[in-house]
Amino acid sequence: MTPPSAWGLTPAEWAPLCHSLGLPAYRAAQIVTALYQNFAQSWQEVTTLPADLRARLAERLTLAPLTTAACDASPDGVRKLLLACHDGERVETVLIPSKGRLTQCLSTQVGCAFRCAFCASGAAGRVRDLSAGEIVGQVMAACQLLRAEAPPAPSAPRPGPRPALPRPGNLVVMGMGEPFDNYDETLRALRILNDPKGLAIGARHITLSTCGVVPGIRRLAEEGLQFELSVSLHAPNDALRTRLMPVNTRWPLAELLATCADYTARTKRLITFEYTLVHEVNDRPHHAAELVRLLRALPCKVNLIPLSPTPGFAGRRPEDRVCLAFLDALLKAKIATTLRQSRGRDVDAACGQLRLRQMPAAAVAPA
Ligand code: SAH
Repeated sequence: MTPPSAWGLTPAEWAPLCHSLGLPAYRAAQIVTALYQNFAQSWQEVTTLPADLRARLAERLTLAPLTTAACDASPDGVRKLLLACHDGERVETVLIPSKGRLTQCLSTQVGCAFRCAFCASGAAGRVRDLSAGEIVGQVMAACQLLRAEAPPAPSAPRPGPRPALPRPGNLVVMGMGEPFDNYDETLRALRILNDPKGLAIGARHITLSTCGVVPGIRRLAEEGLQFELSVSLHAPNDALRTRLMPVNTRWPLAELLATCADYTARTKRLITFEYTLVHEVNDRPHHAAELVRLLRALPCKVNLIPLSPTPGFAGRRPEDRVCLAFLDALLKAKIATTLRQSRGRDVDAACGQLRLRQMPAAAVAPA
């Protein structure tokens, strides 16, 4: 059996672990450097440690990477990786270059229990949660890929500290799964990725997205963290939202928005509402007007996303002029709104699409 992943430990947890193994404290520092500065892919690679210690560590914790089962690249530079976990389950992660930064989209579960109408991740339901090690492992897979692509280091090393290896600058938890349905492992992973001794990705460069799991929003408000929060709204009234997002029957709009208002008041952080535009379903001028009325009192931002067509959902992507008119209506009402350029369409980059495409057809439940 594969031991648990070494990537699931926070940098601070290595010191007590090394102590319990009877090792001097500096071993913990060497391991943390090997993991987060050098992106080690096996204990054998960590030559700062003696061979017998590497063998002892390998028995307890694995450094084996998630293996790449498929990698698709789109002409706009977006790359989508399908990674195989140790039990053979597959997770997606997407790398999106933009404005000199690389954004990585992370998954938190295999499949998803929430079954939003247009989302491929929920099509076959939730299979299992990912561990913190598997969530961090997605970023490490990207770091290892970037390391392999980086130009070779000069043969005569320059004096001074070694330049840091390339890594993603932004993380968005918008891949497969619902992060607040796997709260503890997701938050553990994000803490490791944010830790100055871990991957050191700034909290304000890490965005969590939820379909509206109210207890998760409440819990996050208590954490005192600086992560960004997005809430998937997609409809301006309960009847339509329930049609698109069954989660709305559990936590309807009034309760969701009251929780968002509390979150904003408590954390002094703005929430971004995601709104996927679907042709003639939620993209009409009266929907925009209703959305303005719903959000007017709440300090927030809105991100409009034209639908990425997906099998099992008959909806269509609105024409550009319709998306722009919706954007305009919100901007005129002084709601800070952006219209997301859909990228990576050639690689099925919307939530769950690549895994879905790779699954046998019979495993995909009809919508
Ligand atoms: N479960 C979380 C995070 C995953 S999805 C959530 O629901 O927020 C990230 C975003 O992509 C969500 O807003 C989701 O509704 C949206 N999305 C999923 N499938 C899509 C599609 N086919 N086209 C456009 N947006 C989609």
